[in-house]
Amino acid sequence: MNTQQAQIQRLRGDRKPPLSPADTQHRRTRKRFHLVFFLIFLVLPFSNLMRFDIPRQRFYLAGFELWISEFAILFFAIMFLMFLVVASAIFYGRIYCSYACPQMIFSEWSQAVEAWGRKTAQKLFSKGSASVAAKAISYAVLATASVFLAFVFTSYFVEPRDLLQRLLHLDLVTVGGITGATVTLLTFLDLTLVRQKFCTTICPYGYLQGMLQDRHTLLVRYEDPETACIDCEKCVRVCEMGIDIRKGPFQIECVHCGDCVDACEDVLRRVGHLGLIHYTWGEASVAEKPRESWLHRIGLRDAKRWVILLIMLFYLIGLATALSLRRPVLVYLASDRSTLYSVQPDGRVVNRVRVKLANRSPHATTVRLWVEGLPGGELALPNNPVSLAVGEVLEQTVDLRAFPWEVAQEVNQIRVLAQAQGDRKPEVTELTFLMPPPRK
Ligand code: SF4
Ligand code: SF4
Repeated sequence: MNTQQAQIQRLRGDRKPPLSPADTQHRRTRKRFHLVFFLIFLVLPFSNLMRFDIPRQRFYLAGFELWISEFAILFFAIMFLMFLVVASAIFYGRIYCSYACPQMIFSEWSQAVEAWGRKTAQKLFSKGSASVAAKAISYAVLATASVFLAFVFTSYFVEPRDLLQRLLHLDLVTVGGITGATVTLLTFLDLTLVRQKFCTTICPYGYLQGMLQDRHTLLVRYEDPETACIDCEKCVRVCEMGIDIRKGPFQIECVHCGDCVDACEDVLRRVGHLGLIHYTWGEASVAEKPRESWLHRIGLRDAKRWVILLIMLFYLIGLATALSLRRPVLVYLASDRSTLYSVQPDGRVVNRVRVKLANRSPHATTVRLWVEGLPGGELALPNNPVSLAVGEVLEQTVDLRAFPWEVAQEVNQIRVLAQAQGDRKPEVTELTFLMPPPRK
């Protein structure tokens, strides 16, 4: 070993150089999950399955365009997602990090691109220029990928067509354009420099996991009952998070990816032993594990987990109910009592009504309004039905007029009905209509 190698090893805390994880059992499964979650990441913003349009203040969920004022739906959606994250951490530890998180998917992919760049450069260039060429090749691929990934990521917050226009015009002047360029630069730095360091330093999920896990949470655990460890350090060298799982299963950096499980299995199988690192539920020993029911095997191991599932079900039903009750056109009617009533020269009594109509549907529509329980009563709208463009909000105070009728009282219960185009039933609002007291 020359002096430089010795120095590098010292700086790494006497660790042997890192190894690429073998493409074996857990890694292969994980890569399949990465593909599925990458496709989900791509599809969500473009299909409006999940997107928060900041400029328009709209939240898109399962194809519904929700307004920021639709509190019930947003509440159930946020609570459900929050419990999903919590449940995943309690049941399966940091499986989300290693199997589904875009940060991990792109970090591992960028490492694969770098390795491919090195191989390609070694084939195509002389020894002296190969390392520069390898960097140039991998940086070119990662720069192109950064533009694409930043575009997808920003599409979660800005309308994708609008964003594409800005990108095609290389807009570096407007706020949207500058944001897009900044996200692209950050993505490039993430893919080339930061990678998994993000998971061990900035990301709060690892710290959260430490608080949430209990004695039944899925862990990766080293277990060596017969001191069969040959100290090859392969498990340490393949670990992207830079830890030694033999020091304990509760290390905050461990994302439970299983690469060390595969590595140890691979080494020890060659000398006729079983691997010493396993996925286990809590600290249960693999050797002592009794035959378990399928409920236990999927993680439903105690009452606490059933309660979490029930809470999630509650929020999911709440979300489904709120979405099914949602009306695409918001109708809000209320009496304006800044004046109780007024009487016109022709004898008609006037009450004022505040009208708010908002078109939350994806098409232009019309809303017809009429009154019941007020003989000859009319709402003095300039047009009825009222036309509303997509996203239009109409807010105004209008006169509700009627001639006094025979059995009119000082306070009369009336109903104002509003029916949007295509609605089967009108929306009914109960109001009062005030009249002057009868002359004695
Ligand atoms: S210790 Fe093993 S399971 Fe944990 S992050 Fe490292 S390789 Fe993955
Ligand atoms: S890979 Fe297995 S045998 Fe090698 S050091 Fe790690 S635990 Fe020991």
